Amino acid sequence: MKFKIVTHGCSFTKYKWGCWPKFIKWFSDYDVSNRGRPGSSNETISRAVIDSVMELKSSITHMYIMWSGVDRYEVISDDVLHGSETYCNENGRTKLKTWYGGHPEKEKHEYYRRNFWNENYQYYRTLEHILRTQHFLASYSIPYTMMVFNKDVIRTNFFSNSERDLYNEIDWSKFIFYDKNKGLHEYATENFKDDYYPGDQHPPPKAHYYWTKNIMFQSEIFAPKHELDKLEWNPEEIEVPISNDLDYKKKILDTKSASFCGAKWYNATIWLGSGMTTSCHHPLPHKINLEEIKTNPSAIHNTKEKKEQRRQMQCGERPAGCEYCWKIEDMGKDAISDRVYKSKIFSQNALQTAFDTDYKKDHNLKTLEIAFDRTCQFACSYCNPAFSTTWANDIKQKGAYTGLTSDGRNHFTHSHESAEPYKKDETNPYVEAFYKWWETDLHKSLDELRITGGEPMMSPNLWRLLDWIETQGDKMNPNMTIAVNSNLGAKKEIIEKFKKKIYEFPGFELYTSNEATYQQAEYIRDGLDYTQWHENLCDFIWSGIPKAVHNMCTINSLCLESLPQFLETLIAFKHTGKQVNFTLNILRFPSFQSPLVLPDDLRNKFKGDIEKFLTTNEKWLEGMEINHTQRLIDYLDVVKTPHAGAATQDKLQKDFKMFYSQYDKRRGKDFEKTFPIIGEWYRGI
Ligand code: SF4
Repeated sequence: MKFKIVTHGCSFTKYKWGCWPKFIKWFSDYDVSNRGRPGSSNETISRAVIDSVMELKSSITHMYIMWSGVDRYEVISDDVLHGSETYCNENGRTKLKTWYGGHPEKEKHEYYRRNFWNENYQYYRTLEHILRTQHFLASYSIPYTMMVFNKDVIRTNFFSNSERDLYNEIDWSKFIFYDKNKGLHEYATENFKDDYYPGDQHPPPKAHYYWTKNIMFQSEIFAPKHELDKLEWNPEEIEVPISNDLDYKKKILDTKSASFCGAKWYNATIWLGSGMTTSCHHPLPHKINLEEIKTNPSAIHNTKEKKEQRRQMQCGERPAGCEYCWKIEDMGKDAISDRVYKSKIFSQNALQTAFDTDYKKDHNLKTLEIAFDRTCQFACSYCNPAFSTTWANDIKQKGAYTGLTSDGRNHFTHSHESAEPYKKDETNPYVEAFYKWWETDLHKSLDELRITGGEPMMSPNLWRLLDWIETQGDKMNPNMTIAVNSNLGAKKEIIEKFKKKIYEFPGFELYTSNEATYQQAEYIRDGLDYTQWHENLCDFIWSGIPKAVHNMCTINSLCLESLPQFLETLIAFKHTGKQVNFTLNILRFPSFQSPLVLPDDLRNKFKGDIEKFLTTNEKWLEGMEINHTQRLIDYLDVVKTPHAGAATQDKLQKDFKMFYSQYDKRRGKDFEKTFPIIGEWYRGI
């Protein structure tokens, strides 16, 4: 199990520079999840702690909480409130849109303070928040430590006997103070006065570090000199405070240009087998220039096309390929497109550099998804020859699927040889360019490398990369995450070899995919041995090697029969404290395999099954999992066509029958026997 430390508090816990949670890892072996929020009141902090416990449960090894100013109060509203006095953020799990620290409009804030706010009440409530939080943590047996941001959070000149009694109920042995009753503010002002950033009242990084070392952990061990040097002011680390996504769009993106997006500079998806590249999943991929990569390996990303699009973005023009984002933004000036989500993962300083730099200049990537080739031992029904050699062989040997008329037809008519122009024994110049760039720059610049396929474990290039990491991993960005998308269909020896190679690497995350059980899963994912997949998954989870395990479900029409049962198998891991999560990604292409091809009665039945799953298991699910499950329920309820321009349901159902009757013959399968519920309807199409 991956245990973690969770921290909560206000801007003394999470700020635009590193605060005390950042330094815990120097004194502890556990990962730290910092859930502090600037401007939090003590009510917000208490609720956030309880919510974290309900979400993460026994995987929390220790909770650190720093209480904030007693004068703060919360404002919850479903509407967008205007004003800049306080921060707003929607907590993904509670769904409460909260203005932390008071009303954002100055006049209303002053009105509230004059008419409703009472100092004695605020002190009393702070004690209630602390006590409730302690009881809740104790009920889950979670070890915890509490601190105060300054000495005024707690008072001992009580207003009433009840306040005194409440104070006496609190377990003060769980608190750590500086100098009897003081907090981080006093510690910083008394010891690090000269290190304060001009005009800012928040403790400087140096004070946070020594607070962690001397007050929290009382450790004699010093961080290495080069780490201590980083505690001196680094103006590049200072970021503009942001309250929500819209605020980010306005302050960080729109101040550069109306079309600026960091993904164009720092993110790429590259298919090295075929030599295609794109910035994110939305724009269609384009060809990498073979001449350019002879002298400049970074041209697998820094292509002439992307440079022209960067120029357009610097001038506020809209690159045509990014139509997905423009359509969303044209819905209204406050609409948030992926341009925000794909930019906010990069530092504000990096975005400013991208905007200020000549568009012709090359940039090193920070996030990259690569597929070395399409080699894969599976031929899943919704995949196609462009992404699987087994699919390509099926078409080569048995010919095209015939009689399909809707949008997926071309996937199944030819073997997509352009997806793999280089034979196994030939040198692929795109792969070589990747390695050249990896060895000079990418191993230092990347924050995240995601390897997809095909099946990466079947590609010699994955092993070449793992060999490099095994021997030269110490040169890499120490915070890099490497995520591998595997179908987990490899033999035991290969899985063992993989685990051995990645064992020392702390930032490995495993992604795998499945969405049904036993013979239904094996029907959908042709080539899969469900029992072997499950064993391999258990093997990875119990080895503790991946820092996270994610299962991606591709929601197609067939999986709905056993999807709830499949998700229960993932919940079983959660029962034992293992951290495994899932995403439900609704299939849109080929549209005749979409869940929406099913008739209303079947859709309603499956919707009911998923609702039941959600009600029974909600307490075990992460916020994102609940959202995805609810989204699927709504989708089955409301959406009528898989995507704009899709064929009519009648046409899609004909293609459904046409495709699976051929699939059965080619693959030696039996639809009706495998899917007793959908099979009945299928027979009558
Ligand atoms: S603007 Fe949108 S489509 Fe274009 S790269 Fe950014 S996120 Fe992708």
